[in-house]
Amino acid sequence: MLTKMPLRLRVALFTALGLVMAGLLATAFFGVAAVHLIPHGVHAAHRSISTATTAEPYIKLSLVTAGGLIIMLAVGAGASYLIAVHALKPVAALAESIDAMGDRALFGRVHVSIVNDEVSRLGRSFNTMMGRLEQSFDHQRLFALNAAHELKTPLAAIITNLEVLQLGDGATVQEYAATVDNVLSDAYRLNGLVRDLLNLHKELDPDRCEEIDVAAMFNEIIALLKGMAAVKNVHIEQRLSGVRIYGDRELIYRVFFNLVENAVKYNKPRGRVDIQGCGDTSQSIVHISDTGMGIAEQDLTQIFEPFYRVEPSRSRELGGSGLGLAIAKSIVERHRGHISMESVLGRGSVVTVALPDLNRHLTIDRLS
Ligand code: ADP
Repeated sequence: MLTKMPLRLRVALFTALGLVMAGLLATAFFGVAAVHLIPHGVHAAHRSISTATTAEPYIKLSLVTAGGLIIMLAVGAGASYLIAVHALKPVAALAESIDAMGDRALFGRVHVSIVNDEVSRLGRSFNTMMGRLEQSFDHQRLFALNAAHELKTPLAAIITNLEVLQLGDGATVQEYAATVDNVLSDAYRLNGLVRDLLNLHKELDPDRCEEIDVAAMFNEIIALLKGMAAVKNVHIEQRLSGVRIYGDRELIYRVFFNLVENAVKYNKPRGRVDIQGCGDTSQSIVHISDTGMGIAEQDLTQIFEPFYRVEPSRSRELGGSGLGLAIAKSIVERHRGHISMESVLGRGSVVTVALPDLNRHLTIDRLS
């Protein structure tokens, strides 16, 4: 019931209760003092006076104390109510300015007074929270815009191809075949994009985690990318024997595939890709280095952002969506690991993936 009461009334009530306690203590104190002092004084002076006369000072004292108590209570409660209303004024002002923001200024900030008290701290915390919310909202908006843009391009190409076919009178079998090829390759691109978008936030399922032989996984990846590497004459080599990782095979495969694909895609003709690794009981580390074009320092800080491309046209030409590194980061972090990239423009890059012993972490989580 108390929590439903306005704060100013609660403050007044608690102050009144405090005053009652103080008043009762004062009464008890005066009572004890009277018992000890008055009877002796009265007894000594008038030994013959009756008990009725002796009780009179007690009654008077009790009436005065009770009256004083009531006045003290009323004045104290009223005063504490006024003080509470005054003290809570800045809180009310803060609530008013939050209400006044309305829908138009969704992430508005409140005015914070220079006095360093609890209310200004509350205002500052509110503004910090609003800042974080605004940033996250902007991120989501940008992400949705970029995703829509990426999906729009192959979709528009599919529509144009089919419309041209529909308009052209008596298209040849070869023209039909060429259109089907184009439409199919755009549909594959769309499919890849949707898969990438799903992978970006796919939950890690502990039941799907298993021990992975990393060398065997890289052999599979290298075999798949052999054709792409051959076109550029890029040599891929791995030295990983004995490195094991505990995780979701499908997701970990996606991380390493994206990284080796990039190392080949952004390499120079006759370049190299070297994959090395090591591991102990606490973590496994894999380095993927290439002798490619490298990345400038100012781009390195944003390279793991979704849809970020150093050279948008070249990346798109090579079939990139700008999601490969963002997906890799998100999956590695879901495995409680860390991914980083070092690069020298024109010389090449090294991506390092460090993954802890997830099995141990999951066991600790289950036990706690
Ligand atoms: P994309 O699908 O476009 O390759 P990524 O997220 O994998 O997207 O990479 C983002 C950008 O980072 C790429 O567009 C490319 O410019 C750059 N990049 C990624 N890996 C490398 C690398 N090994 N060497 C040089 N640039 C790279």
